Amino acid sequence: MQQDDTHSSKSTYLLSEMTWPEARRRFKEVDIALLPVGAIEQHGPHLPLDTDAFDADYLARQVAAACSHPKPLVFPLISYGVSYHHDDFTGTISITNDTLSRMVYEIGMSAAKNGITKLVIINGHGGNIPTLKFAAQMINRDARIFTTVDTGETSDTDLDSICETNNDVHAGEIETSTSLYVRPELVDMKKAKKFVPEFSIKYLNFSAKRSVEWFARTSRISPNGVLGDPTIATAEKGEKMWKIMIRNLVELIESLKNMSLQEIYEKRF
Ligand SMILES: [Zn+2]
Repeated sequence: MQQDDTHSSKSTYLLSEMTWPEARRRFKEVDIALLPVGAIEQHGPHLPLDTDAFDADYLARQVAAACSHPKPLVFPLISYGVSYHHDDFTGTISITNDTLSRMVYEIGMSAAKNGITKLVIINGHGGNIPTLKFAAQMINRDARIFTTVDTGETSDTDLDSICETNNDVHAGEIETSTSLYVRPELVDMKKAKKFVPEFSIKYLNFSAKRSVEWFARTSRISPNGVLGDPTIATAEKGEKMWKIMIRNLVELIESLKNMSLQEIYEKRF
């Protein structure tokens, strides 16, 4: 799963595995960090509760592994997220927006003190979006560093061309395919059931181009927690999806890495 150089001290990018002298050296070499954030919540009757947490961490590590030297630093995963909307399904362990935003804010401020000037939050869970954007905005306000949150914005358009389901938002074709590729042993396809929600108001459809963002408890709109069609998921689709997500994020990170803050804000193409 991880590339060979994950553990080589020369090229390590996992902050958690560095000694402090090594971290001091790496923070001088590179000023960009990836912070994966996930969730522990129901993912239908066929996927594990840590799907979003694992995926965010996996993506951050794969992106760093695929980047040129000096590679971006990967911060330890924040496993828990804002999942109150899945509360009616057992096993969902949720923290509040306040707690998550506070934690991300403080990690970002501490990262900035260590010399990070670009922080890319790799978010595995849609329910975290408002909170993470709030935290990113506050980090930018107070530390004056570049902050961004990617919840798939860099690849959504490309993934749409592979995904056949409309409104595939949770434990459906995409998440089941990506899980089948990296952790097939944790996917129970015999229990995978399609549930694609549709709404009478077109602006409420999740994948509509002109949709509003709105909030609902999942149990109100899906009996088994699935919002999408996991039955047509395959490992092959998952492999393609991962490749696209990694490729696009690597492109973003490499561009950011090679620019000063001044250039990011001012350079025009
Ligand atoms: Zn998920």
